[in-house]
Amino acid sequence: MSGLRNGRIASTAYKALSTQSPLVASVSRAGAVSQREPVAPENASPLAALSAGALCRSLFTNTVSSTPWLLSPAISFLSYLCQPRRPLLFDVERNRPFAWLMKQTVYKQFCGGETPAETKATMRRMRDMGFRGTIITLATETVFDYRKNLVHGLGVEAGAGEGAAMCPAIAAWRKRTLGAVELLDEGDQLAIKITGAGPLVTDALAAGEPLPAQMLDALDEISTRCKAQRARILIDAESQLYQFGILQVGLDLMRKYNRGGHAVIYSTYQAYLKSTPASVARDLAAALDEGFTLGLKLVRGAYLSTDKRSLIHDTKEDTDAAYDAIALGALRQDLLGFSSSSSSSGVEQQRTECKGTQRRPFPSVNLFLASHNRESVVAAHELHRQRSEQGLPTVPVGFAQLQGMSDALSFGLLRLGGAPEVYKCTTWGSLAECLGYLARRASENRDAASRTSDEFAALRAEARRRLGRLLRLQG
Ligand SMILES: Cc1cc2nc3c(=O)[nH]c(=O)nc-3n(C[C@H](O)[C@H](O)[C@H](O)COP(=O)(O)OP(=O)(O)OC[C@H]3O[C@@H](n4cnc5c(N)ncnc54)[C@H](O)[C@@H]3O)c2cc1C
Repeated sequence: MSGLRNGRIASTAYKALSTQSPLVASVSRAGAVSQREPVAPENASPLAALSAGALCRSLFTNTVSSTPWLLSPAISFLSYLCQPRRPLLFDVERNRPFAWLMKQTVYKQFCGGETPAETKATMRRMRDMGFRGTIITLATETVFDYRKNLVHGLGVEAGAGEGAAMCPAIAAWRKRTLGAVELLDEGDQLAIKITGAGPLVTDALAAGEPLPAQMLDALDEISTRCKAQRARILIDAESQLYQFGILQVGLDLMRKYNRGGHAVIYSTYQAYLKSTPASVARDLAAALDEGFTLGLKLVRGAYLSTDKRSLIHDTKEDTDAAYDAIALGALRQDLLGFSSSSSSSGVEQQRTECKGTQRRPFPSVNLFLASHNRESVVAAHELHRQRSEQGLPTVPVGFAQLQGMSDALSFGLLRLGGAPEVYKCTTWGSLAECLGYLARRASENRDAASRTSDEFAALRAEARRRLGRLLRLQG
């Protein structure tokens, strides 16, 4: 763990996340988080901004995730719902009462909407709660399960037959993604899952071949529209089989669209992969040599249960260390042999020179930290705040958490000094399309028992606070 992570300032901010007095960020149309006003003195919890419905759903899902004997069957059940040819009773496309129940509980907790109108309403709610914007992503994707050697196309349409000029799956993906671009207001961002465009695209990604021209056209049109709307595109990282191809696509788009000192396109780098430092170093070098801005979205990685295990760090601690090293290194402009001259200490410089390696200047980088890990997020925010205050070189940074997860962290971040840019990320699509995403969220919660129990405690405290207030009002 980094020194900063253990440092006094980081720990003060860490505590502040759960104890600060209630403030909400007000977001100007120009985009900056402008000022923070107290809402009501008795609203002591960061979760005070949650609606009653969202609080009840969060309590329900957190009760399940914090109870091992409930969580394991819930994960198995959600995974079962993703399988093809389910009996009528468990088919969300045919059993309407069952679909309604799923929608009112888990779907609404984690997903943005089945239609553009529902998604837009969710985005409005996020903005009203003080977030800088919403990142929206269409749920369709293809997951390759290395362990079972199976491809799951989740909500993905069939591809073109042999010799067809236009692939319907790519056409559908393009149409729906362009529809999502229309939903973006100032501050909102688009995330894309490239494998959602179907088998022609995934075959090309897996084989390391160029994408079909129809897909390249679609990506160009989406990028041009987003650039015109000043929205960013975050290209999601996916299963390993496709990820090297996805990174290549991201690099090509960054070369074209990340000009003028800021990033329109971000590639996602999964810190749990042993190969990630090499991928980041390769893209830093390209950004430096070719004069574009690297859009670096950093996650830990969501495909632990389906990807080849040997490619992933052996322990959670190794993944944590890898995440923090990249995040804090980028914020110090001192990462993987790239360094802005004033940020590199004399000792480090000497050490590098002794090793015979040459440090290269730090290229233009825009950073996006997508994480629910409180320590990582607080350490990064504090480092960025400190360096900005001291006039030291750093990079612009945004923070994002998923809808329905780590709300106390998201709201707490909004209250910290330094006006961090905080986003909520929501997945949209029909209930059937979102099942794979929901199953992944559930199994992620199993891996993060301590985080979910902290979240659960914060939610129960907020529910008690509201109940107490209601009783006082009635008494
Ligand atoms: C806004 C947003 C966007 C995201 N986009 C993507 C994306 O494009 N692609 C993607 O893959 N994921 C994405 N994720 C999910 C992300 O990769 C993580 O799965 C999730 O956020 C949990 O990690 P965490 O940083 O929140 O921290 P924690 O909850 O502290 O860490 C959990 C993570 O640690 C890692 N881990 C757990 N156990 C082990 C172990 N034994 N050995 C090694 N590593 C382990 C896994 O990556 C696991 O997900 C996104 C998350 C957010 C918040």
